[in-house]
Amino acid sequence: MRKWLALVVLALAAIPVFAQQAAAPAAAANPFFEEWTTPFGVPPFGQIKEAHYLPAFKEGIARERKEVDAIAKDLQAPTFANTIEPLDQSGEFLDRVQIVFYGQLSAETNDTLQGIAKEVAPMLSALNDDINLNEALFARVKTVWEKRDALGLTQEQKKLVEERYKEFVRGGANLDAKDKERLRAINKELSLLGLKFGDNVLRETNAYRLVIEKKEDLAGLPPGVVSAAADAAKSAKLEGKWAFGLQAPSIWPFLQYADSRELRRQILNAYTTRADHGDAYDNKAILSKIAALRAERAQLLGYKTWADFVLDRNMAKVPAKVYGLLDQLWTPALAVAHKEATDIQAAINASGGDFKLEPLDWRYYSEKVKKSRYDFDEEALRPYFKLDNVRDGAFYVANKLYGITFTERSDIPKYHVEVRAFEVKDADGTFLGVFMTDYHPRPGKRGGAWSGRYRDQYFKDGKDVRPIVVNVCNFSRPTGDTPALLSLEEVETLFHEFGHGLHSLFSRVHYKGVSRVPRDFVELPSQIMESWVLEPDVLKVYAKHWKTGEVIPSDLVAKVDRARKYGQGFASVEYLAASYLDMDWHTLSQPREENATAFENASMAKIHMMPEIIVRYRSPYFSHIFGPGGGYSAGYYSYIWAEVLVADAFQVFVEKGIFDQATAKSFRTNILERPGTEDAMTVYVRFRGHEPSVGPLLAKRGLTEAPIPGIQ
Ligand SMILES: [Zn+2]
Repeated sequence: MRKWLALVVLALAAIPVFAQQAAAPAAAANPFFEEWTTPFGVPPFGQIKEAHYLPAFKEGIARERKEVDAIAKDLQAPTFANTIEPLDQSGEFLDRVQIVFYGQLSAETNDTLQGIAKEVAPMLSALNDDINLNEALFARVKTVWEKRDALGLTQEQKKLVEERYKEFVRGGANLDAKDKERLRAINKELSLLGLKFGDNVLRETNAYRLVIEKKEDLAGLPPGVVSAAADAAKSAKLEGKWAFGLQAPSIWPFLQYADSRELRRQILNAYTTRADHGDAYDNKAILSKIAALRAERAQLLGYKTWADFVLDRNMAKVPAKVYGLLDQLWTPALAVAHKEATDIQAAINASGGDFKLEPLDWRYYSEKVKKSRYDFDEEALRPYFKLDNVRDGAFYVANKLYGITFTERSDIPKYHVEVRAFEVKDADGTFLGVFMTDYHPRPGKRGGAWSGRYRDQYFKDGKDVRPIVVNVCNFSRPTGDTPALLSLEEVETLFHEFGHGLHSLFSRVHYKGVSRVPRDFVELPSQIMESWVLEPDVLKVYAKHWKTGEVIPSDLVAKVDRARKYGQGFASVEYLAASYLDMDWHTLSQPREENATAFENASMAKIHMMPEIIVRYRSPYFSHIFGPGGGYSAGYYSYIWAEVLVADAFQVFVEKGIFDQATAKSFRTNILERPGTEDAMTVYVRFRGHEPSVGPLLAKRGLTEAPIPGIQ
């Protein structure tokens, strides 16, 4: 996704050989039990029926269990070749089922598929436990790991051994029986607390409704916002009134446009006190307990804090590195935000307001300041962004950088009539992979945009198996005689997902177990592609008016650029404060339950948070870090980390030329082809020459000493 989430392929390692296919004659008609003879081995979507999934899952799980068991019970002394390698290859059958199933579950789902997903989840998690808690298997892996330096392994093989071993250890394999038991209890409690936290946030978000009865209270709101509020009221049986809620599409336009200061205060107050009312849905005790349990879990596993445990697998490695980055951005961001506050206060005064700027005013007046300075409508760009042209623009950039080509093929199986499929060839004409696009919304497709795969790249029996990649988005549709015309944000999303796609297409690793890329690295290949979107040499290739063919005027592009820098102080401060809060909660060195309110206040006071801005997520509704799974705990910083990497890396292209061949080659080899086979920072430094610097991002966001265009 933009902000990541490629297909969750629950893939435990995966893969080996369809041992004897003749074993299952009854399932002969099930495509998962057969070899695929389609072009490039693309899944035969037309032949795969819903009824095929469950038997295939069951067969795959049974086969993988058997394969892993055989490795664990091997009587030979453990070696790379009889333990690590077969483990990496185990589960091939299951892998093939999962990758198709989860791809379809996201892009073309229905009740039946969702039912199957629920049914197989516990089966898969049991399989996972059986592998990770298999002591005989771990003992073998550990033996190989201990001897890894003396085995004459390649860099990639060594990394595979380390990854495998680490995975076991982080799951508690090295603990004694008593600690293992405690760990299991903590895991269970954490998962329940996370669910409760998430339920409370959802409940508190949905429970609030601002109902407006008088038309004059709608003053300032655009017609689209008003009619959505009328619809919301109607479906709540409040016909003739207008209803607003705390969901993003409702509250943010309200705060941006509603003239009534009193109503803005009400809705913002409801938003920021969610799950903080001291009742049954209060999250403060829950999140304090979560933070304490995480600290305990980290310490059981030999780490100082939860953040140390999490960051050990990221590019940042240690908390000090994350704090260091945040500190470098914080000071300039705060300075610019203070400047924005002064401008806004001036706008308040000028409009006759006799009050001091508060959080409830920020979005409203900042919108007015922005409009008066950079009056232009983003919609004016749309006629220049015809979908097919934009996609060809992305292909053009890839061709100029890497020499690769895209040829549409009509004979490749597709799961929907709107899917298009391209054969991708390398500069020397060899086959690189299949790239599919699925760009428009429909029922059954989840929201957002993401890059997924229907086959991973790896080596099988010495042969390079090339990947099958798909970009799934929800872009504006064609209407009537007008082709699909994209907004600028959609154009950037297209390039972004295409960047994830290139990352998959260029992959050249021997083992699936080294394809994991750290969370704070994975958005580099995608976000960097957005950097070419507004380059004049690229615009003139793809940004042509769909009727007249005229290339987008450069003054229009310049206007966009300027307007986008406005408000970066606010956006940066709001986001960075949340990143600090996340890090503070997860660098507790004592597993102690804190008073959540006092803790948050102290955390904000420490960075001199300005009272006119509220941290993007207050602790009681910071679902990224405390919600189910807690995927972004000690990781909320990774969004800006990726932006730092992108701005810093693109600087090389800026200096040497946006299509400089040597730079492109280095980017491909170091960053795109094999990043998981080495330490991510090592790889980055090899490309860049030094560790990432924040300078280019500060400039891009307009957070530098230099005056910001349009702002005095
Ligand atoms: Zn992304």
